Amino acid sequence: MGDKPQSMVYTLAGALLAALVWMLSDMWRGYRVRAWLRHGDLAMVPHLSGWWGVLTERARKLLRERERSIDASEQRLKDFLSAIQTSPNGVVMLDKQAQIEWCNQTAAAQLGIHAERDVMQRIGNLMRDPVFTAYMSLEQPSEPVVIEGRGHRVDRPVRISVQRHRYGEGKQLLLTRDVTVVEQAEAMRRDFVANVSHEIRTPLTVLSGFVETIQTLPLREEEKTHYLSLMATQAHRMQGLVEDLLTLSRLEGSPVPSMRQSFPLSRLMASCEQEAKGLSASLGQGDVSHHIHFVVNPLLTDAVLMGEGRELQSALSNLVSNAVRYTPAGGDVHVSVDQGIDGSLLIEVRDSGAGIAAEHLPRLTERFYRVDRSRSRESGGTGLGLAIVKHVMQRHGGSLHIASEVGQGSCFKLVFPASRWMSTHA
Ligand code: ADP
Repeated sequence: MGDKPQSMVYTLAGALLAALVWMLSDMWRGYRVRAWLRHGDLAMVPHLSGWWGVLTERARKLLRERERSIDASEQRLKDFLSAIQTSPNGVVMLDKQAQIEWCNQTAAAQLGIHAERDVMQRIGNLMRDPVFTAYMSLEQPSEPVVIEGRGHRVDRPVRISVQRHRYGEGKQLLLTRDVTVVEQAEAMRRDFVANVSHEIRTPLTVLSGFVETIQTLPLREEEKTHYLSLMATQAHRMQGLVEDLLTLSRLEGSPVPSMRQSFPLSRLMASCEQEAKGLSASLGQGDVSHHIHFVVNPLLTDAVLMGEGRELQSALSNLVSNAVRYTPAGGDVHVSVDQGIDGSLLIEVRDSGAGIAAEHLPRLTERFYRVDRSRSRESGGTGLGLAIVKHVMQRHGGSLHIASEVGQGSCFKLVFPASRWMSTHA
């Protein structure tokens, strides 16, 4: 009887002890799970059995899924930013206070800001251009604004278009685009249209004046003949202008001349010589009034140029006609063909005319640029000849070189690369 209660006490004590041990071990495992969840490091997941183990495994899976989804989001953001980074247009993201949150390298280069150093700087403190400041103060600008970009100089303009958009809660997006070339092209187009209109208006005014004179005044037969010949000159001038304009537009719109087409040099020289003599005769009232020489290196007499015959003829004919027109009667016009030391083919048109001052040389190939406007008009010039020559040479992989000195005559040289001509002797 005495042993029974004693064993019950032992059993109870044992059970209590076991419960205590279990509780302590459970608390310890709970403590480990809590300690791990504090940092949630997937490399340090505690290995536990029982419910704590199940719980830890669940938590580990959830954490791993979340980490994967964060990695995927980060990768998407990186891809997105690097796509914007490669854009030829600039992107600047501004927060509520107009501070830079992010910008791509293009915007940084165009606006003269630093993509990393200037983050969280107010854009207004970095860009002091009054046009930009005024634009940023507008509530809802509908049109982009054009400002001077980084490195802008009067002789080398850089023009940047900036467009502002609002997004999110008070945030702003600036999109920038380099419009320098577009603006230059637009200015050139405007100038060109103005020049063409002016060039056509002048002979047209003269023509309609003569028409009115003939219609209203009782003229003698010889007076009529005189007026009609003046009218023919003006009509001829307009025709020349339209022809040159068409040539230029053909040059701009057609593909580069193929290497499979070829044109004999001898034919080119012969037709230009005939033209030059004809022009000289027409200027000298019937007689060839210049000393005109066409000379080809004997090794090149059978040479052929690879390219468009009509274009090549127009280029050389423009140079020869200029040499005759800008050289007084009795002067020399010398056209020669030779081979350059690098294998190029050189066609040189040299005259003993008035020459051209150095400051005009770089602009001679611009459309409608003339040194002596009245001289050009008197002799039937359009101001487009050298622009056509330059264009033709570029299309044939060659170049035009001009050397001249006032009082010493001029030398215009066409240089064709070795790949653009062939000869059996050279
Ligand atoms: P244009 O039809 O007026 O001759 P070009 O484009 O052929 O137009 O030439 C541009 C200008 O260059 C001419 O107006 C002229 O002032 C000058 N020029 C061209 N060739 C010569 C030359 N051989 N000698 C002197 N001036 C020249």
